[in-house]
Amino acid sequence: MFLTDCHLHSEFSFDSQTPVNDIVERAIELGLSEIAITDHFDPCKADPDCEKMYDTENYFKRIYEAREKYGDKIKIAAGVEAGQAQLYPENVKKLIENHPYDFVIGSVHNVTGDIDLAFESYTISNKTSWLERYFLEAAEAAKTGLYDVFGHVNYICRYIKKKTVPLNVHDYEDLAILVLRQVIALGKGIEINISSLRDGGNTTMPPIELLKKYRAMGGEILTMGTDAHVLHHVGKYAEKGLAIAKRAGFNYIATFENRKPIFHKIEI
Ligand SMILES: [Zn+2]
Ligand SMILES: [Zn+2]
Repeated sequence: MFLTDCHLHSEFSFDSQTPVNDIVERAIELGLSEIAITDHFDPCKADPDCEKMYDTENYFKRIYEAREKYGDKIKIAAGVEAGQAQLYPENVKKLIENHPYDFVIGSVHNVTGDIDLAFESYTISNKTSWLERYFLEAAEAAKTGLYDVFGHVNYICRYIKKKTVPLNVHDYEDLAILVLRQVIALGKGIEINISSLRDGGNTTMPPIELLKKYRAMGGEILTMGTDAHVLHHVGKYAEKGLAIAKRAGFNYIATFENRKPIFHKIEI
C-alpha cells in the first residue's frame, strides 16, 4: 500500500525541534513510501523575525543530505507551508520562485492585522463573524495561486472547537466552498489534514462532507498530511486518513515533485 505524509514540521519550523533525519528514519520504520517536509514560512509585519527565522539555505542542505543517506529507502520532497499569501503575496512569491521546492502548501494561520487565529476567544455569539473573516481571507489566499495545495481549509474550526463552542459543517460550508472554488479554478489542490484524528474521532480537516463537495465540484488533487510537529505524530493514522479520502470519493492520493502532482492509487 502506498503510504505518505506530506505535511511535516522539523527543526526548521519555529514550533518544532525534530531533526530532519529523525523524521525520515521514523517514516522508513513506518513503511511510508514518500514524505514532504513542509516547514513554516510565516511572514508577519508585527514580528519581522518570523520570516528571518526560516533558514532556507540550511533547510535545503539538510534535505539534500537526507536524500543522499536515505534516498534508496524513501522519497523525500522539499516542501514549505507558506502562510498568509493574502497578506504577503510578494514575500511568498519571492520564496517559492527562488528555491527548488517540490511542494508548497498554502495556509492561513493569521488574518489581517497579523491576528493569530490560534489565540482568539471564540464564543457562540462571535463564531459566525470569525468564520466569515477567516474564510473570506482564505479565499483571497487561494486566489493568489501561490501554492500547490491549500492547507487545512477549515483551520479556524480547530480553535473554535477547542473553546468547546458547538460547530457544525453547515455553519461554514458555503464559506468553505468559496475557497474550494478558487482552488479548482486555478487547477490547484487541497490536503486532507489528519492532525485532528489524533484528538480522537474521525474528523479530518476538511471533514468528509467538504471533501465530498470538493470532489463533486471537480476537485481532483488531494494530498495527505499529519501536520506532525513531534516525532511520534509522523505518519500517524495514515491508513485511516486514506480510508476517509476513499470514502469521500477519491481513488488517488497525490504527492508532488518539482511542483507537479503525481497520482497514486489508494489501495484500501
Ligand atoms: Zn498550518
Ligand atoms: Zn503545518
